[in-house]
Amino acid sequence: MSTSVRILCARCKSPVHVPARPRPADLISCPVCRVRDSFESVRDQLRRYKRERLARKLDARMRAALRDSGSLEYFPEIFPEGTYHFIPDD
Ligand SMILES: [Zn+2]
Repeated sequence: MSTSVRILCARCKSPVHVPARPRPADLISCPVCRVRDSFESVRDQLRRYKRERLARKLDARMRAALRDSGSLEYFPEIFPEGTYHFIPDD
């Protein structure tokens, strides 16, 4: 697992600079639209974003499998649309 995750601004998709050894209180900001968050918050957003993306993928797979079987009804979890200022670039 890479330690140098590239981070993008969720709004304008600009790459965002992160200090080599960020501290939780360091401010991470988009060079274009100036959105800012503490590194701690950004880290949390990236974690949530990845978790949601994985959950959606599993959900889609589950629906497809059950649709093919034709028998069971599947009630997926409702995923709230997350709001992110920053997202991982991968
Ligand atoms: Zn931006």
